[in-house]
Amino acid sequence: MSQSLATVAYLGAAILFILSLGGLSNPETSRRGNLFGMIGMALAVLATVFGPRVGPAGIAWIVGALVIGGGIGLYAAKVVKMTQMPELVALMHSLVGLAACLVGFASYVDTSIQLQGAEKVIHEVEIYVGILIGAVTFSGSLIAFGKLNGKIGGKPLLLPARHWLNLVALLVVIWFGKQFLAAPDVQSGMLPLMVMTAIALLFGVHMVMAIGGADMPVVVSMLNSYSGWAAAATGFMLSNDLLIVTGALVGSSGAILSYIMCNAMNRNFISVIAGGFGSGGGAPAAKAGDAAAPQGEVVPVSSAETADMLREAKSVIIVPGYGMAVAQAQHTVYEITQTLREKGVQVRFAIHPVAGRMPGHMNVLLAEAKVPYDIVMEMDEINEDFPDADVAMVIGANDIVNPSALEDPASPIAGMPVLEVWKAKTSIVMKRSMASGYAGVDNPLFYKENNRMLFGDAKKMLDEVLGALKG
Ligand code: NDP
Repeated sequence: MSQSLATVAYLGAAILFILSLGGLSNPETSRRGNLFGMIGMALAVLATVFGPRVGPAGIAWIVGALVIGGGIGLYAAKVVKMTQMPELVALMHSLVGLAACLVGFASYVDTSIQLQGAEKVIHEVEIYVGILIGAVTFSGSLIAFGKLNGKIGGKPLLLPARHWLNLVALLVVIWFGKQFLAAPDVQSGMLPLMVMTAIALLFGVHMVMAIGGADMPVVVSMLNSYSGWAAAATGFMLSNDLLIVTGALVGSSGAILSYIMCNAMNRNFISVIAGGFGSGGGAPAAKAGDAAAPQGEVVPVSSAETADMLREAKSVIIVPGYGMAVAQAQHTVYEITQTLREKGVQVRFAIHPVAGRMPGHMNVLLAEAKVPYDIVMEMDEINEDFPDADVAMVIGANDIVNPSALEDPASPIAGMPVLEVWKAKTSIVMKRSMASGYAGVDNPLFYKENNRMLFGDAKKMLDEVLGALKG
Protein backbone atom coordinates (compact mmCIF):
# COMPACT_ATOMS: atom_id res chain seq x y z
CA MET A 1 0.00 0.00 0.00
CA SER A 2 1.43 3.38 -0.98
CA GLN A 3 1.97 6.14 1.58
CA SER A 4 -0.81 8.28 0.09
CA LEU A 5 -3.33 5.42 0.22
CA ALA A 6 -2.36 4.71 3.84
CA THR A 7 -2.84 8.41 4.66
CA VAL A 8 -6.31 8.38 3.09
CA ALA A 9 -7.20 5.24 5.09
CA TYR A 10 -5.94 6.94 8.27
CA LEU A 11 -8.06 9.98 7.53
CA GLY A 12 -11.12 7.77 6.99
CA ALA A 13 -10.41 5.95 10.26
CA ALA A 14 -10.03 9.25 12.14
CA ILE A 15 -13.41 10.43 10.79
CA LEU A 16 -15.00 7.13 11.81
CA PHE A 17 -13.57 7.50 15.33
CA ILE A 18 -15.08 10.98 15.63
CA LEU A 19 -18.46 9.65 14.40
CA SER A 20 -18.09 6.79 16.86
CA LEU A 21 -17.62 9.16 19.80
CA GLY A 22 -20.62 11.18 18.61
CA GLY A 23 -22.73 7.99 18.50
CA LEU A 24 -21.59 6.87 21.94
CA SER A 25 -22.85 10.08 23.54
CA ASN A 26 -26.43 8.78 23.41
CA PRO A 27 -27.78 5.31 24.30
CA GLU A 28 -30.03 5.32 21.22
CA THR A 29 -27.12 5.80 18.81
CA SER A 30 -24.47 3.94 20.78
CA ARG A 31 -24.69 0.70 18.77
CA ARG A 32 -24.05 2.65 15.59
CA GLY A 33 -21.22 4.48 17.37
CA ASN A 34 -19.63 1.16 18.31
CA LEU A 35 -19.93 -0.06 14.73
CA PHE A 36 -18.20 3.07 13.39
CA GLY A 37 -15.43 2.56 15.93
CA MET A 38 -14.94 -1.09 14.92
CA ILE A 39 -14.81 -0.27 11.20
CA GLY A 40 -12.42 2.61 11.89
CA MET A 41 -10.13 0.36 13.92
CA ALA A 42 -10.17 -2.39 11.27
CA LEU A 43 -9.27 0.19 8.63
CA ALA A 44 -6.49 1.60 10.83
CA VAL A 45 -4.98 -1.83 11.52
CA LEU A 46 -5.11 -2.85 7.84
CA ALA A 47 -3.57 0.43 6.69
CA THR A 48 -0.78 0.07 9.25
CA VAL A 49 0.01 -3.59 8.61
CA PHE A 50 -0.05 -3.25 4.82
CA GLY A 51 1.31 0.30 4.86
CA PRO A 52 4.73 1.35 3.58
CA ARG A 53 6.46 1.13 6.97
CA VAL A 54 6.01 -2.62 7.49
CA GLY A 55 8.07 -5.01 5.38
CA PRO A 56 7.08 -8.60 4.51
CA ALA A 57 9.11 -9.97 7.45
CA GLY A 58 7.28 -7.63 9.85
CA ILE A 59 3.84 -8.79 8.68
CA ALA A 60 4.42 -12.32 10.02
CA TRP A 61 5.33 -10.93 13.46
CA ILE A 62 2.33 -8.63 13.48
CA VAL A 63 -0.10 -11.34 12.42
CA GLY A 64 1.30 -13.63 15.12
CA ALA A 65 0.88 -10.91 17.75
CA LEU A 66 -2.62 -10.12 16.46
CA VAL A 67 -3.69 -13.75 16.75
CA ILE A 68 -2.33 -14.08 20.31
CA GLY A 69 -3.55 -10.66 21.52
CA GLY A 70 -6.87 -10.92 19.68
CA GLY A 71 -7.41 -14.45 21.05
CA ILE A 72 -6.79 -13.30 24.64
CA GLY A 73 -9.06 -10.26 24.11
CA LEU A 74 -11.84 -12.39 22.61
CA TYR A 75 -11.62 -14.88 25.45
CA ALA A 76 -11.62 -12.13 28.11
CA ALA A 77 -14.61 -10.41 26.51
CA LYS A 78 -16.54 -13.69 26.42
CA VAL A 79 -15.90 -14.80 29.99
CA VAL A 80 -16.07 -11.43 31.74
CA LYS A 81 -19.25 -10.85 33.71
CA MET A 82 -21.05 -7.54 33.30
CA THR A 83 -20.13 -6.65 36.90
CA GLN A 84 -16.44 -7.18 36.09
CA MET A 85 -16.45 -4.79 33.13
CA PRO A 86 -14.99 -1.84 35.10
CA GLU A 87 -12.06 -4.00 36.22
CA LEU A 88 -11.51 -5.18 32.65
CA VAL A 89 -11.53 -1.56 31.46
CA ALA A 90 -8.99 -0.62 34.16
CA LEU A 91 -6.77 -3.53 33.07
CA MET A 92 -7.01 -2.42 29.43
CA HIS A 93 -5.98 1.10 30.40
CA SER A 94 -2.97 -0.38 32.15
CA LEU A 95 -2.00 -2.21 28.95
CA VAL A 96 -2.08 1.06 26.96
CA GLY A 97 0.25 2.55 29.56
CA LEU A 98 2.56 -0.46 29.40
CA ALA A 99 2.60 -0.31 25.59
CA ALA A 100 3.62 3.38 25.72
CA CYS A 101 6.53 2.49 28.07
CA LEU A 102 7.71 -0.41 25.92
CA VAL A 103 7.47 1.58 22.68
CA GLY A 104 9.37 4.40 24.40
CA PHE A 105 12.27 2.14 25.44
CA ALA A 106 12.25 0.43 22.05
CA SER A 107 12.43 3.77 20.19
CA TYR A 108 15.27 4.89 22.42
CA VAL A 109 17.44 1.84 21.72
CA ASP A 110 16.42 1.62 18.04
CA THR A 111 19.66 2.21 16.15
CA SER A 112 17.85 2.70 12.83
CA ILE A 113 16.58 6.09 14.05
CA GLN A 114 19.47 8.47 13.38
CA LEU A 115 18.46 12.02 14.27
CA GLN A 116 20.54 15.11 14.85
CA GLY A 117 20.11 18.52 16.50
CA ALA A 118 16.61 19.76 17.27
CA GLU A 119 14.97 16.65 15.79
CA LYS A 120 16.92 14.43 18.18
CA VAL A 121 15.94 16.58 21.17
CA ILE A 122 12.26 16.54 20.14
CA HIS A 123 12.32 12.76 19.69
CA GLU A 124 13.92 12.26 23.11
CA VAL A 125 11.42 14.60 24.78
CA GLU A 126 8.63 12.53 23.16
CA ILE A 127 10.20 9.36 24.55
CA TYR A 128 10.69 10.80 28.04
CA VAL A 129 7.18 12.28 28.31
CA GLY A 130 5.60 9.21 26.65
CA ILE A 131 7.21 6.81 29.13
CA LEU A 132 6.31 9.14 32.01
CA ILE A 133 2.59 9.20 31.09
CA GLY A 134 2.62 5.50 30.22
CA ALA A 135 4.17 4.45 33.55
CA VAL A 136 1.73 6.57 35.60
CA THR A 137 -1.18 5.11 33.60
CA PHE A 138 0.14 1.57 33.96
CA SER A 139 0.62 1.47 37.74
CA GLY A 140 -2.37 3.76 38.49
CA SER A 141 -4.69 1.53 36.45
CA LEU A 142 -3.44 -1.60 38.21
CA ILE A 143 -4.25 -0.04 41.60
CA ALA A 144 -7.66 1.08 40.26
CA PHE A 145 -8.22 -2.54 39.14
CA GLY A 146 -7.45 -3.70 42.69
CA LYS A 147 -9.75 -1.11 44.22
CA LEU A 148 -12.61 -1.92 41.85
CA ASN A 149 -12.53 -5.65 42.50
CA GLY A 150 -12.17 -5.11 46.24
CA LYS A 151 -8.65 -6.58 46.60
CA ILE A 152 -7.47 -3.16 47.78
CA GLY A 153 -9.67 -1.30 50.29
CA GLY A 154 -11.48 1.91 49.26
CA LYS A 155 -10.01 3.92 52.14
CA PRO A 156 -7.53 6.58 50.91
CA LEU A 157 -3.90 5.99 51.85
CA LEU A 158 -2.65 9.32 53.11
CA LEU A 159 1.12 9.40 53.52
CA PRO A 160 2.44 12.23 55.69
CA ALA A 161 3.44 15.28 53.58
CA ARG A 162 2.14 13.52 50.47
CA HIS A 163 1.86 16.74 48.44
CA TRP A 164 5.52 17.49 49.20
CA LEU A 165 6.44 13.97 48.18
CA ASN A 166 4.66 14.49 44.86
CA LEU A 167 6.37 17.84 44.36
CA VAL A 168 9.81 16.38 45.10
CA ALA A 169 9.05 13.50 42.68
CA LEU A 170 8.16 16.06 39.98
CA LEU A 171 11.38 18.01 40.53
CA VAL A 172 13.46 14.83 40.44
CA VAL A 173 11.75 13.80 37.19
CA ILE A 174 12.57 17.20 35.65
CA TRP A 175 16.19 16.96 36.81
CA PHE A 176 16.62 13.47 35.39
CA GLY A 177 14.94 14.70 32.20
CA LYS A 178 17.75 17.23 31.85
CA GLN A 179 20.34 14.47 32.41
CA PHE A 180 18.58 12.28 29.86
CA LEU A 181 18.63 14.95 27.16
CA ALA A 182 22.27 15.79 27.88
CA ALA A 183 23.36 12.12 27.68
CA PRO A 184 25.84 11.63 24.81
CA ASP A 185 24.76 8.07 24.04
CA VAL A 186 22.05 5.49 24.73
CA GLN A 187 24.04 3.76 27.49
CA SER A 188 24.37 6.90 29.60
CA GLY A 189 20.79 8.01 28.90
CA MET A 190 19.35 4.70 30.08
CA LEU A 191 19.92 5.31 33.81
CA PRO A 192 17.97 8.62 34.04
CA LEU A 193 15.23 7.07 31.89
CA MET A 194 14.91 4.08 34.19
CA VAL A 195 14.98 6.16 37.37
CA MET A 196 12.22 8.38 35.95
CA THR A 197 10.18 5.29 35.02
CA ALA A 198 10.48 3.94 38.57
CA ILE A 199 9.39 7.29 40.03
CA ALA A 200 6.46 7.52 37.60
CA LEU A 201 5.36 3.98 38.53
CA LEU A 202 5.46 4.88 42.24
CA PHE A 203 3.61 8.12 41.54
CA GLY A 204 0.80 6.23 39.76
CA VAL A 205 0.43 3.90 42.76
CA HIS A 206 0.52 6.79 45.24
CA MET A 207 -1.93 8.92 43.26
CA VAL A 208 -4.66 6.27 43.04
CA MET A 209 -4.06 4.88 46.55
CA ALA A 210 -4.68 8.39 47.94
CA ILE A 211 -8.09 8.67 46.33
CA GLY A 212 -11.08 7.79 48.50
CA GLY A 213 -13.58 5.11 47.50
CA ALA A 214 -16.32 7.63 46.81
CA ASP A 215 -14.14 9.37 44.22
CA MET A 216 -13.25 6.25 42.24
CA PRO A 217 -15.59 7.10 39.32
CA VAL A 218 -13.43 10.15 38.61
CA VAL A 219 -10.28 8.02 38.79
CA VAL A 220 -11.70 5.53 36.29
CA SER A 221 -12.51 8.27 33.77
CA MET A 222 -9.25 10.08 34.49
CA LEU A 223 -7.19 6.95 33.80
CA ASN A 224 -9.21 6.54 30.62
CA SER A 225 -8.04 10.01 29.67
CA TYR A 226 -4.40 9.22 30.63
CA SER A 227 -4.48 6.08 28.49
CA GLY A 228 -5.46 8.32 25.56
CA TRP A 229 -2.55 10.69 26.18
CA ALA A 230 -0.23 7.68 26.53
CA ALA A 231 -1.43 6.46 23.11
CA ALA A 232 -0.93 9.95 21.64
CA ALA A 233 2.60 10.01 23.07
CA THR A 234 3.23 6.64 21.42
CA GLY A 235 1.96 8.16 18.18
CA PHE A 236 4.56 10.95 18.47
CA MET A 237 7.34 8.44 19.16
CA LEU A 238 6.38 6.36 16.12
CA SER A 239 5.47 9.38 13.96
CA ASN A 240 2.05 7.81 13.44
CA ASP A 241 -0.55 10.53 12.79
CA LEU A 242 -3.56 8.30 13.39
CA LEU A 243 -2.30 7.21 16.79
CA ILE A 244 -1.80 10.85 17.73
CA VAL A 245 -5.34 11.75 16.61
CA THR A 246 -6.92 8.70 18.25
CA GLY A 247 -4.99 9.20 21.47
CA ALA A 248 -5.97 12.86 21.58
CA LEU A 249 -9.65 11.92 21.02
CA VAL A 250 -9.58 9.38 23.87
CA GLY A 251 -7.56 11.72 26.08
CA SER A 252 -9.82 14.72 25.62
CA SER A 253 -13.10 12.77 25.79
CA GLY A 254 -11.85 11.08 29.00
CA ALA A 255 -10.97 14.50 30.41
CA ILE A 256 -14.47 15.80 29.55
CA LEU A 257 -16.00 12.70 31.18
CA SER A 258 -13.90 13.28 34.32
CA TYR A 259 -15.18 16.85 34.42
CA ILE A 260 -18.79 15.67 34.03
CA MET A 261 -18.31 13.07 36.79
CA CYS A 262 -16.79 15.71 39.08
CA ASN A 263 -19.76 18.00 38.47
CA ALA A 264 -22.18 15.11 39.08
CA MET A 265 -20.48 14.40 42.40
CA ASN A 266 -19.94 18.05 43.30
CA ARG A 267 -16.22 17.42 43.56
CA ASN A 268 -13.40 19.68 42.60
CA PHE A 269 -11.20 17.96 40.02
CA ILE A 270 -7.96 19.17 41.58
CA SER A 271 -8.92 17.99 45.05
CA VAL A 272 -9.87 14.56 43.70
CA ILE A 273 -6.48 14.26 42.00
CA ALA A 274 -4.70 15.61 45.07
CA GLY A 275 -6.34 12.70 46.86
CA GLY A 276 -7.74 12.07 50.28
CA PHE A 277 -11.04 13.75 49.50
CA GLY A 278 -13.83 12.57 51.74
CA SER A 279 -11.49 11.29 54.39
CA GLY A 280 -11.10 14.28 56.67
CA GLY A 281 -13.26 15.43 59.52
CA GLY A 282 -15.94 12.85 59.91
CA ALA A 283 -15.88 9.28 60.99
CA PRO A 284 -13.61 7.19 58.81
CA ALA A 285 -15.37 5.28 56.09
CA ALA A 286 -15.90 1.63 56.82
CA LYS A 287 -14.75 -1.04 54.40
CA ALA A 288 -17.33 -1.39 51.64
CA GLY A 289 -19.76 -4.17 52.39
CA ASP A 290 -19.25 -4.03 56.16
CA ALA A 291 -22.49 -4.05 58.11
CA ALA A 292 -23.36 -0.67 59.58
CA ALA A 293 -23.84 -0.29 63.33
CA PRO A 294 -27.62 -0.16 63.88
CA GLN A 295 -28.87 3.45 64.05
CA GLY A 296 -32.53 2.71 64.65
CA GLU A 297 -35.26 0.37 63.62
CA VAL A 298 -35.75 -0.77 60.04
CA VAL A 299 -39.09 -2.00 58.75
CA PRO A 300 -38.74 -5.12 56.62
CA VAL A 301 -41.42 -5.98 54.05
CA SER A 302 -42.20 -9.09 52.05
CA SER A 303 -42.29 -9.30 48.27
CA ALA A 304 -46.09 -9.72 48.40
CA GLU A 305 -46.41 -6.47 50.38
CA THR A 306 -44.09 -4.77 47.90
CA ALA A 307 -46.27 -5.97 45.02
CA ASP A 308 -49.36 -4.54 46.79
CA MET A 309 -47.70 -1.14 47.23
CA LEU A 310 -46.65 -1.08 43.59
CA ARG A 311 -50.09 -2.15 42.37
CA GLU A 312 -51.80 0.61 44.33
CA ALA A 313 -49.36 3.32 43.26
CA LYS A 314 -50.08 5.88 40.53
CA SER A 315 -46.47 6.83 40.07
CA VAL A 316 -43.40 4.64 40.69
CA ILE A 317 -39.75 5.65 40.32
CA ILE A 318 -37.21 2.84 40.10
CA VAL A 319 -33.63 3.58 41.20
CA PRO A 320 -31.19 0.90 40.00
CA GLY A 321 -27.71 0.56 41.48
CA TYR A 322 -24.73 -1.76 41.52
CA GLY A 323 -26.74 -4.58 43.18
CA MET A 324 -29.02 -4.79 40.13
CA ALA A 325 -25.94 -5.46 38.02
CA VAL A 326 -24.67 -8.10 40.49
CA ALA A 327 -28.06 -9.86 40.56
CA GLN A 328 -28.55 -9.40 36.77
CA ALA A 329 -32.08 -8.35 37.61
CA GLN A 330 -32.58 -5.88 34.75
CA HIS A 331 -34.82 -8.17 32.68
CA THR A 332 -37.16 -8.87 35.62
CA VAL A 333 -37.19 -5.14 36.39
CA TYR A 334 -38.42 -4.51 32.89
CA GLU A 335 -41.07 -7.22 33.13
CA ILE A 336 -42.35 -5.59 36.34
CA THR A 337 -42.32 -2.23 34.56
CA GLN A 338 -44.40 -3.61 31.68
CA THR A 339 -46.88 -5.28 34.07
CA LEU A 340 -47.32 -2.06 36.05
CA ARG A 341 -47.69 0.06 32.92
CA GLU A 342 -50.38 -2.29 31.65
CA LYS A 343 -52.21 -1.61 34.92
CA GLY A 344 -51.97 2.15 34.29
CA VAL A 345 -49.13 2.89 36.74
CA GLN A 346 -46.62 5.50 35.59
CA VAL A 347 -43.14 3.97 35.88
CA ARG A 348 -39.90 5.87 35.38
CA PHE A 349 -36.23 5.10 36.07
CA ALA A 350 -33.90 7.51 37.88
CA ILE A 351 -30.24 7.17 36.92
CA HIS A 352 -27.50 8.59 39.08
CA PRO A 353 -24.35 9.47 37.09
CA VAL A 354 -22.12 7.29 39.31
CA ALA A 355 -24.54 4.39 39.85
CA GLY A 356 -22.84 1.01 39.44
CA ARG A 357 -19.13 0.74 38.81
CA MET A 358 -18.56 2.55 35.53
CA PRO A 359 -19.97 5.57 33.74
CA GLY A 360 -23.22 4.60 32.02
CA HIS A 361 -23.36 1.21 33.79
CA MET A 362 -27.11 1.36 34.49
CA ASN A 363 -27.97 2.72 31.04
CA VAL A 364 -26.17 -0.23 29.45
CA LEU A 365 -28.07 -2.76 31.58
CA LEU A 366 -31.45 -1.14 30.99
CA ALA A 367 -30.78 -0.86 27.25
CA GLU A 368 -29.86 -4.57 27.23
CA ALA A 369 -33.23 -5.34 28.84
CA LYS A 370 -34.90 -3.12 26.17
CA VAL A 371 -36.32 -0.58 28.62
CA PRO A 372 -37.59 2.33 26.46
CA TYR A 373 -35.25 5.33 26.61
CA ASP A 374 -38.05 7.82 27.19
CA ILE A 375 -38.73 6.48 30.71
CA VAL A 376 -35.07 6.48 31.72
CA MET A 377 -34.32 9.85 33.34
CA GLU A 378 -31.08 11.49 34.43
CA MET A 379 -30.80 12.60 38.05
CA ASP A 380 -31.34 16.29 37.25
CA GLU A 381 -34.48 15.53 35.23
CA ILE A 382 -36.24 13.50 37.92
CA ASN A 383 -34.95 14.48 41.36
CA GLU A 384 -37.70 17.07 41.83
CA ASP A 385 -40.41 14.51 41.04
CA PHE A 386 -39.83 12.25 44.06
CA PRO A 387 -42.34 14.12 46.29
CA ASP A 388 -45.06 13.28 43.71
CA ALA A 389 -44.11 9.58 43.52
CA ASP A 390 -46.06 7.03 45.54
CA VAL A 391 -43.25 4.49 45.58
CA ALA A 392 -39.52 4.88 45.01
CA MET A 393 -38.12 1.39 44.50
CA VAL A 394 -34.35 1.20 45.10
CA ILE A 395 -32.81 -1.92 43.56
CA GLY A 396 -29.34 -2.73 44.90
CA ALA A 397 -28.34 0.92 45.26
CA ASN A 398 -26.90 2.48 48.39
CA ASP A 399 -24.44 5.40 48.15
CA ILE A 400 -26.43 7.16 45.41
CA VAL A 401 -29.53 7.37 47.67
CA ASN A 402 -27.70 8.23 50.90
CA PRO A 403 -29.23 11.35 52.53
CA SER A 404 -26.12 11.92 54.67
CA ALA A 405 -24.44 13.27 51.52
CA LEU A 406 -26.78 16.26 51.86
CA GLU A 407 -27.39 16.31 55.61
CA ASP A 408 -24.07 15.46 57.25
CA PRO A 409 -21.15 17.77 56.35
CA ALA A 410 -18.75 15.35 58.08
CA SER A 411 -19.82 12.42 55.90
CA PRO A 412 -17.14 11.06 53.53
CA ILE A 413 -19.60 11.61 50.68
CA ALA A 414 -20.76 15.08 51.85
CA GLY A 415 -21.69 17.35 48.96
CA MET A 416 -22.38 14.57 46.44
CA PRO A 417 -25.84 15.09 44.93
CA VAL A 418 -28.01 12.02 45.51
CA LEU A 419 -31.40 10.75 44.38
CA GLU A 420 -33.82 11.98 47.05
CA VAL A 421 -35.92 8.82 47.27
CA TRP A 422 -36.97 9.47 50.88
CA LYS A 423 -39.17 12.32 49.57
CA ALA A 424 -41.49 9.79 47.88
CA LYS A 425 -44.52 8.68 49.90
CA THR A 426 -42.82 5.32 50.45
CA SER A 427 -39.35 4.17 49.56
CA ILE A 428 -38.49 0.47 49.32
CA VAL A 429 -34.84 -0.57 49.41
CA MET A 430 -34.06 -3.96 47.97
CA LYS A 431 -30.72 -5.43 49.12
CA ARG A 432 -29.44 -8.51 50.87
CA SER A 433 -28.33 -7.08 54.21
CA MET A 434 -27.58 -3.88 56.08
CA ALA A 435 -24.11 -3.74 54.52
CA SER A 436 -22.76 -0.42 53.27
CA GLY A 437 -22.10 0.41 49.62
CA TYR A 438 -18.86 1.09 47.74
CA ALA A 439 -17.96 4.21 49.74
CA GLY A 440 -18.32 2.27 53.00
CA VAL A 441 -20.72 4.84 54.47
CA ASP A 442 -23.73 4.11 56.69
CA ASN A 443 -27.07 4.98 55.15
CA PRO A 444 -29.70 6.75 57.33
CA LEU A 445 -32.30 6.20 54.57
CA PHE A 446 -32.85 2.66 55.85
CA TYR A 447 -34.16 3.96 59.20
CA LYS A 448 -36.53 6.60 57.86
CA GLU A 449 -40.16 6.21 58.87
CA ASN A 450 -41.45 5.96 55.30
CA ASN A 451 -38.76 3.50 54.23
CA ARG A 452 -39.22 -0.26 53.93
CA MET A 453 -36.48 -2.87 53.45
CA LEU A 454 -36.99 -5.83 51.12
CA PHE A 455 -34.10 -8.10 52.10
CA GLY A 456 -32.78 -10.63 49.60
CA ASP A 457 -31.04 -11.02 46.27
CA ALA A 458 -32.55 -8.47 43.88
CA LYS A 459 -33.29 -11.01 41.13
CA LYS A 460 -34.97 -13.46 43.53
CA MET A 461 -37.01 -10.73 45.22
CA LEU A 462 -38.07 -9.18 41.93
CA ASP A 463 -39.12 -12.58 40.58
CA GLU A 464 -41.33 -12.96 43.64
CA VAL A 465 -42.73 -9.43 43.24
CA LEU A 466 -43.47 -10.15 39.57
CA GLY A 467 -45.17 -13.41 40.49
CA ALA A 468 -47.33 -11.63 43.08
CA LEU A 469 -48.19 -8.84 40.63
CA LYS A 470 -49.28 -11.32 37.97
CA GLY A 471 -50.97 -13.74 40.37
P1 NDP B 1 -23.30 0.82 46.14
O1 NDP B 1 -22.00 0.12 45.96
O2 NDP B 1 -23.32 2.04 46.97
O3 NDP B 1 -24.38 -0.17 46.76
C1 NDP B 1 -24.75 -1.33 46.12
C2 NDP B 1 -25.58 -2.14 47.08
O4 NDP B 1 -26.07 -3.24 46.34
C3 NDP B 1 -24.80 -2.70 48.24
O5 NDP B 1 -25.03 -1.97 49.42
C4 NDP B 1 -25.26 -4.17 48.33
O6 NDP B 1 -25.88 -4.39 49.60
C5 NDP B 1 -26.30 -4.28 47.23
N1 NDP B 1 -26.20 -5.55 46.51
C6 NDP B 1 -25.11 -6.19 46.08
N2 NDP B 1 -25.43 -7.34 45.48
C7 NDP B 1 -26.78 -7.43 45.53
C8 NDP B 1 -27.71 -8.40 45.08
N3 NDP B 1 -27.33 -9.53 44.45
N4 NDP B 1 -29.02 -8.16 45.28
C9 NDP B 1 -29.43 -7.05 45.93
N5 NDP B 1 -28.58 -6.11 46.37
C10 NDP B 1 -27.27 -6.30 46.18
O7 NDP B 1 -23.85 1.10 44.67
P2 NDP B 1 -24.51 2.40 44.05
O8 NDP B 1 -24.85 2.03 42.65
O9 NDP B 1 -25.58 2.93 44.96
O10 NDP B 1 -23.36 3.49 44.05
C11 NDP B 1 -22.20 3.34 43.26
C12 NDP B 1 -20.95 3.48 44.11
O11 NDP B 1 -19.84 3.00 43.36
C13 NDP B 1 -20.68 4.93 44.46
O12 NDP B 1 -20.06 5.03 45.71
C14 NDP B 1 -19.69 5.33 43.36
O13 NDP B 1 -18.87 6.41 43.76
C15 NDP B 1 -18.89 4.04 43.23
N6 NDP B 1 -18.20 3.88 41.94
C16 NDP B 1 -18.85 4.19 40.78
C17 NDP B 1 -18.20 4.12 39.59
C18 NDP B 1 -18.89 4.57 38.32
O14 NDP B 1 -18.21 4.96 37.38
N7 NDP B 1 -20.20 4.51 38.28
C19 NDP B 1 -16.78 3.64 39.51
C20 NDP B 1 -16.22 3.26 40.79
C21 NDP B 1 -16.93 3.39 41.95
P3 NDP B 1 -25.98 -5.89 50.18
O15 NDP B 1 -24.59 -6.41 50.22
O16 NDP B 1 -26.61 -5.70 51.52
O17 NDP B 1 -26.85 -6.67 49.26
